Amino acid sequence: MRTFKIANVKNIWAVGRNYAAHAQELGNKVTEKPLIFLKSGSCAVVSQMLSWPAWAQDVHHEVELALLIGPQLEISAWGLSLDLTERKIQAELKTQGHPWTLAKSFIGACPLGDFRNDLKWESLVDAEISLSVNQKVRQSGTLNQMIFTPDVLLQYIKDHFPLESGDLILTGTPAGVGPLKSGDELRATLSLQGQVLLENHWKIQL
Ligand code: ZN
Repeated sequence: MRTFKIANVKNIWAVGRNYAAHAQELGNKVTEKPLIFLKSGSCAVVSQMLSWPAWAQDVHHEVELALLIGPQLEISAWGLSLDLTERKIQAELKTQGHPWTLAKSFIGACPLGDFRNDLKWESLVDAEISLSVNQKVRQSGTLNQMIFTPDVLLQYIKDHFPLESGDLILTGTPAGVGPLKSGDELRATLSLQGQVLLENHWKIQL
């Protein structure tokens, strides 16, 4: 498996509610157009030990397929990421109609796993993305459950935002999000018919 880590991330364009089952579990309606929000590039971390500020008390995991944008603004590599979210604060911000930045872009809020550039969407569409916490599967879904496919997300973001080479697009999370605590051990995988395409391990150390 040819994998690599990303040293520097510019912008992180993330999409909300891209798997219907996850939208449903948070009581949200699926949107007609992609619901795009930003995470700062500087909240990306490649360490396997994860931590975040003490004020973030209700941090949930959201395992997501990440797309690395290349020089021609194409999808140049595919990777695993965690869109960590302070759920209690996000719920308060939503109620007030405020931006989600505090809940989505805190220090350490975007752990990145390995990427590989030898995959194509056509061969990934039936792949399964999953996250286990302490050996229990918490999140699992197939990429074909995405409402907006990577190509559609890419085009939408290009049409509306200053997408740049070196940016990431996070493609949304399948159902099963939940809280994390210190000591938790995470394993994320992208697999196809039992073959592991990408795998990452993280440990929470608060
Ligand atoms: Zn997310």
